[in-house]
Amino acid sequence: MHLSLYRKFRPQSFDEMVRQEHVVRILKNQIESGSVGHAYLFTGPRGTGKTTVARIFARAINCEAPVNGSPCGKCPTCLALRDGSLDVTEIDAASNNGVDQMRDLREKVQYPPVNGKYKVYIIDEVHMLTDSAFNALLKTLEEPPAHAVFILATTEPQKLPATILSRCMRLDFKLIPEEDLEKHLMRILDGIGKKYEREAVSAIARAGAGSDRDMLSIAEMCIAYSDALTYDGVTAVLGAADFHVTCGLVSALLKADAADAVGRTESILSEGKAVGVLVRNVLELLNQVLVAKTCASAEKLLSLPRELFKEVKALADGADGKAILRATEILAKTENELRYTASPRIVLETAIVRIATPSQDYDIDALLVRMNALEKELNALKQTGVPVLSTPAPTKTPALGAIKTPEPVSGPASEPAPEPKPQTEDGDLLPPPPEEPMFEEAYFSDGPDASPDRETAEAPRTAERREPPAATPASPALAAAPVIGVPKDAMTAFGMFMRTLRKTCRNGVLVTICSDLEAEFEGSLFVLFTDNETVFRSLKREEHTAALGQALSQIGISEFEVRKKGQPAEDGGIEQLKRDFKDYPIELK
Ligand SMILES: [Zn+2]
Repeated sequence: MHLSLYRKFRPQSFDEMVRQEHVVRILKNQIESGSVGHAYLFTGPRGTGKTTVARIFARAINCEAPVNGSPCGKCPTCLALRDGSLDVTEIDAASNNGVDQMRDLREKVQYPPVNGKYKVYIIDEVHMLTDSAFNALLKTLEEPPAHAVFILATTEPQKLPATILSRCMRLDFKLIPEEDLEKHLMRILDGIGKKYEREAVSAIARAGAGSDRDMLSIAEMCIAYSDALTYDGVTAVLGAADFHVTCGLVSALLKADAADAVGRTESILSEGKAVGVLVRNVLELLNQVLVAKTCASAEKLLSLPRELFKEVKALADGADGKAILRATEILAKTENELRYTASPRIVLETAIVRIATPSQDYDIDALLVRMNALEKELNALKQTGVPVLSTPAPTKTPALGAIKTPEPVSGPASEPAPEPKPQTEDGDLLPPPPEEPMFEEAYFSDGPDASPDRETAEAPRTAERREPPAATPASPALAAAPVIGVPKDAMTAFGMFMRTLRKTCRNGVLVTICSDLEAEFEGSLFVLFTDNETVFRSLKREEHTAALGQALSQIGISEFEVRKKGQPAEDGGIEQLKRDFKDYPIELK
């Protein structure tokens, strides 16, 4: 019978373990001091020895004469367990994830062990259990019989309910250093009398990427490939495997199958390949595909092994030339971005999705610009204490005057002069009231009554607003947008102005420029400041002034001026404005 290297050389005692000494030491101590717990959680990447340690531990706590904390392998219990005993049960939660299995376990765990002292349940991939199965397991963990020991193993502890986590002793398994993998592999190769080159062993250990199991299965492929383990042979095996994987990803990209492409990317990265290496591999392959698509003598040019060239050619035949170029362009840009980002994986996955969804190609740069502007606005609003809202959809913008309000409306044109700001006893300025006509309930994070300061400062309105949320929690639009009026606080006004501008103005550059301005009220005059001469001149252009004026008039501001920081107001600023701005009525109060 063919046994895989991994199974054949699975450690039988703690001393044979490859690394994980921090886990082993704790478990040995517990065995030697007789203080075995009821529930353990083994976490860590795959192939790092979780199940192996669980099995050794299960035998060791039952062994009649443990040697140095490990099972002796000779006593009747050890022998019984080796041949398979009811006392040690392994459950693969990936295939038995139901509540029935857990109920069954709950029942059977009550029977005492047959051979040894403990009944051990090893539940592998425990994060795969369903919610109801977790609940059933939890009941067992809450009141375990004295003879029961549970070892839960998982690669994804974050998926476990806190109630389970809190009942387990958690032991984290770590990726195994290459050096230790090499030593382990050489020990095995020596054991089976296989000749090897040192470099070949290093290459295999590197490909194992911290996992003993992965390394040994790669070693097995290499051993099957040739008699002696040579570096060339190993790279041929590894390279080809790598090549097929990259081909799969490129194929998904060129077919615009985003889900498949992201899935493949995830799986490649989870195998331990670095983001930058993957990007280079894909770029290289895309280049080969392009050559195969366009050059008659591609086979010669590429000088790939025949089988590999066939794959490249198939990709080229099935792909659109433009799609190949587009993918190359995006990834080349991505490769560059990777140098500056702290989250390479996100950058890569964004690029992958972009390539695979050509029909919805958002301009990332445009999105970033918008996001920056929003962030700025958000911070500004947070500082004023006003509930934060994002840009409302244009269709939902209520027309001025269309909203019923509990108080007399101050029309935009009739009352431009700011009222004195409400103050506390200490003289601190209170946050301005949320008198924006465009507020929508959906944008409130805490509901209309969130700010106690506002309640005390504006008792009459708060009293008005206190009832509707309780009576009609589903339609608080009236409560949320009670009053129309000119914003009195420059920061609030600026936020409203930017939102309106973003909706009304088609000039994206202008919107971006404006988001960097500063604003102040001088009486009823709304002044926008910049310290940049170019920006200043640009804003002074007639069509830009008109756009600003239009946006401002929508939020009830009729007088405004763009000014360079540190310079006095222009003489006859309003007159200039009127000249620049003939189509809009400018009223002086
Ligand atoms: Zn024993």
